[in-house]
Amino acid sequence: MVYELPKLPYAYDALEPVIDARTVEIHYSKHHQTYLNNLNKIVEENPDVFNGKTIEEVLSNLDLIPTSIRQQVINQGGGYYNHNLYWANLSPNGGGEPQGKLREAIDKTFGSFDSMKEKLAQAAKGVFGSGYGQLVLDNQTKELEIIQTKNQDTACSIGKTTLLIIDVWEHAYYLAYQNRRPDYVDKIFSIVNWDEVEKRYDLALSK
Ligand code: MN
Repeated sequence: MVYELPKLPYAYDALEPVIDARTVEIHYSKHHQTYLNNLNKIVEENPDVFNGKTIEEVLSNLDLIPTSIRQQVINQGGGYYNHNLYWANLSPNGGGEPQGKLREAIDKTFGSFDSMKEKLAQAAKGVFGSGYGQLVLDNQTKELEIIQTKNQDTACSIGKTTLLIIDVWEHAYYLAYQNRRPDYVDKIFSIVNWDEVEKRYDLALSK
């Protein structure tokens, strides 16, 4: 059993002008693919650790991973998992604002949609080094939170469900934005797939 690369749900140039085609192509077909290849190598050498589990199930129970390969699974499995989520929560038809139960929860937790957006943008811009800004649901309290995650660490490893993930590794923006990470983060909100984020929220609440 091996994991598979989810098909990119749009063309390489579909996210322009926010994210240029070359960046999407390299990010997806090189970076994401490489995390997957490295993960599958670990799977082939340690089939009993994975044993038909989803990568989310594996990363949600780090204690079950032998210590000799745990950090590699966090790095490569997390890189695979985080990028699956990242591509799916972007869309050329995205932008606007969330609706329904998610919107109610955002207003209740953060005061307003704009206030949540501002906090998430600040979190993403403020990651020191490589990582992600994320809107998550805490699996115990069922409260929304904004968090930073480092490197390829995952929200599911700390008992939270990723609703919206913003990749701020330099490979996500450097060709077009160079050092201007804040510009990339501000613009990415115009391509957020809120339908997908709402679906994740509804699913996480039902668990
Ligand atoms: Mn990335």
